[in-house]
Amino acid sequence: MSKTLPVQKNDYIDVTFEDLTHDGAGVAKVDGYPIFVPKALPGEKAKIKVIKINKSYGIGRLIEIYERSHYRVDVASGDAHKYGGCQLQHMSYEGQLQFKENQVRQVLTRIGKLEDVKVHPILGMDNPWHYRNKAQVPVGEKDGKLIAGFFKPRSHEIVDTNESLIQIPEINKAVQAVKEICSELGIPAYNEEAHKGVLRHIMARYGKQTGELMVVIITRTADIPHKNKLVKEIIARLPKVKSIVHNVNPKRTNVILGEKTTVLWGNEVIYDYIGNVKFAISALSFYQVNPDQTKVLYDKALEYAGLTGEETVIDAYCGIGTISLFLAQKAKKVFGVEVVPEAIEDAKRNAELNGITNAEFAVGEAEVVIPKWYKEGNKADVLVVDPPRKGCDEALLKAIIDMKPKKVVYVSCNPATLSRDLRILEDGGYKTLEVQPVDMFPQTMHVEVIVKLVLKGTVE
Ligand code: SAH
Repeated sequence: MSKTLPVQKNDYIDVTFEDLTHDGAGVAKVDGYPIFVPKALPGEKAKIKVIKINKSYGIGRLIEIYERSHYRVDVASGDAHKYGGCQLQHMSYEGQLQFKENQVRQVLTRIGKLEDVKVHPILGMDNPWHYRNKAQVPVGEKDGKLIAGFFKPRSHEIVDTNESLIQIPEINKAVQAVKEICSELGIPAYNEEAHKGVLRHIMARYGKQTGELMVVIITRTADIPHKNKLVKEIIARLPKVKSIVHNVNPKRTNVILGEKTTVLWGNEVIYDYIGNVKFAISALSFYQVNPDQTKVLYDKALEYAGLTGEETVIDAYCGIGTISLFLAQKAKKVFGVEVVPEAIEDAKRNAELNGITNAEFAVGEAEVVIPKWYKEGNKADVLVVDPPRKGCDEALLKAIIDMKPKKVVYVSCNPATLSRDLRILEDGGYKTLEVQPVDMFPQTMHVEVIVKLVLKGTVE
């Protein structure tokens, strides 16, 4: 089979890169056969080694760059750069933003067949580093020493690192301090292969607006040796800590958190604000990881919803009610739907915390609950969706088309499924008016998009 392909495994060849894949690899073509090469940029000429070939594409490794892209930046050496999961860090931030914006435009045309839609310039960050408010760091042992950091790609080997370039400094400090304390106290690390030992992960969460820090110690065993000393030292070395939590995960699994959580010291939750809305964040709560850009995204959601105080809003896929509570400030009534019961508990608690009385939350699948509401005669003026990567279920899109809310605001973390769903909504009577990409995850290939649709024939 491979005889008919223009390249063979282990070939060294000179190529010119034309494009980037959605996961940030450079694309070069040899007689039409695409080869994907991580860390290569469009416009670059380079020598590569072909390391894998499949029928329809190959994978290569960069050997030498002859001509650099003007978007290429030198990446410092060190494990934080090498293993930190920043797939686009070799590209200037300006280049990253342009890549993401172009990707959105291309996919909207290719998959959504949306030719003349208005795509605004992407909203990026002033400082695209140290933005994440949550870390979950695996712990292991090497040469008898406790280590914690990143996994090597496609392996379970841990690289000991004290810094992540995209975490908020308080998070890095917290993880490092807890690692040092556990090491000093001789708390054994978990050994994945043998399923023995104690400490599996160190987790830290930080409320950027409040300065409140949560530390979560995740162990295999129900007990933590030297627990009291551990707590005392964490309090002494991390003055911002407001909550120390113990989570037990006794299973052989890649899932980080187990079911049993107890508070070792302080509060069960920390607080944070997005705009004026206050959120309680527990060890297990879902909460957006880039708080600054979340505000940017939700301000857009508010703008696109165009609320006057008279509207009924449905927020499908509402999570802990973040968008719902944001919109409730300007709407008559908001109904949130979410499949995870604990998230709905958080949503209700957050509504109460803010004295918001015009938001109601229901547990269930959006594609089941919303058609049911419609059948019962309930309608929304504005419908917001913020689905996971696979996009909206077709039954939900059909319910939207039947219900005919005047506006639909679609928040998406996957331009491909977004484009597929926009096509269905367009064919069902909606017009895509505005598309706003937002960079929620600088240095990575992820891009968030928010879209405003209106019923065709509606004056805007
Ligand atoms: N809007 C929220 C959460 C978005 S993440 C925020 O901005 O914080 C997507 C959410 O959809 C997750 O909370 C996930 O649990 C939920 N979800 C996944 N499938 C669902 C479905 N079929 N119906 C309702 N919610 C679903």
